Amino acid sequence: MKKTVRAIAACTAIVLGGVLLAGVTDNDDPAADVELSASTPIDEPGLAAAVKSSSVDKLGQETRNAYAVAQLPDPVVEKIRGEKGKNWAFGSSTFPLATGEGNEGAPASALYVAKRNGKDWQVEYEGTDGFFALVEQAPEAVLPAEEKQNLLAAKANTYATKTGLALPWKVGDSWFMGGGPHGDDGRSKPFNSIDFNGGDGTVLAPADGTVYRSCVKNGSALVKLVHANGFSTTYYHMTGLIKSKAGTKIKAGTKLGKIGTQLPCGGFASGPHVHFSLLKGKNKVPVNGMTIGGWTFKEGAQSYQGSASHAGQTVGTGRPMKNFGAGK
Ligand SMILES: [Zn+2]
Repeated sequence: MKKTVRAIAACTAIVLGGVLLAGVTDNDDPAADVELSASTPIDEPGLAAAVKSSSVDKLGQETRNAYAVAQLPDPVVEKIRGEKGKNWAFGSSTFPLATGEGNEGAPASALYVAKRNGKDWQVEYEGTDGFFALVEQAPEAVLPAEEKQNLLAAKANTYATKTGLALPWKVGDSWFMGGGPHGDDGRSKPFNSIDFNGGDGTVLAPADGTVYRSCVKNGSALVKLVHANGFSTTYYHMTGLIKSKAGTKIKAGTKLGKIGTQLPCGGFASGPHVHFSLLKGKNKVPVNGMTIGGWTFKEGAQSYQGSASHAGQTVGTGRPMKNFGAGK
């Protein structure tokens, strides 16, 4: 039987045949973006302000460059876990993306560990030496051993081009590459993101990992999986997220959510899809030459172009691709 499902151009600027799914609405009110609810209240004195200012200091420049903007909105500071003495905290800081067409992509988010020294907080962001040092020192109540192990895996200076990741849906099923390699903001390099849609729309973990959520809002969030081999993957626009506690270790194939058009931290989506990104620590890893789900991706001259190849077959944007699983 011939499949008549059509590829959705997803968060690309291209709209194939004018297909926009009627009935799929975006419930997000951009004006409400200032009140993104954190999953855990921040009750450590001075922590929120310290993370906010250090995010601007340490991540502001690279985020402005990556998103090609002169100014950034205030970061959304969330806490995943603290400890009794209120001397340590673990959480995320996320710069929302502007909302609206031209802002296809995901917000810039980084996990942090914070340690209080008197009135001051030392705040370090994932993927940096300072972060690794604080992860090692952090008490178990803030960072259990298994989470530490995964976070420290990003310490290695190299990574394998065979990622050990499946594509983020059921192995054996085919979905559409709605948008080939593109930046985490849509346009800018490195092209570390790919848009997918299709099948039953259920997004699954492409490998074992520990799960985190940032910009939790309206049943959506930026979902991050930190894998044991040093890679992290993020998922944006999803709806119907699993409720697993932050830091839960989940197995490959565990449901993360459904494809959608949600914008819990800004951006734009023209149809239901998942914006899938590859990272190491907070650093974006270009998918060019990387093998995921049996396909080796190749970036194009422009964002959203490019292709993927498996065993002599090459597919481009808008074409279906079968998930051959991890390690193929
Ligand atoms: Zn995308």
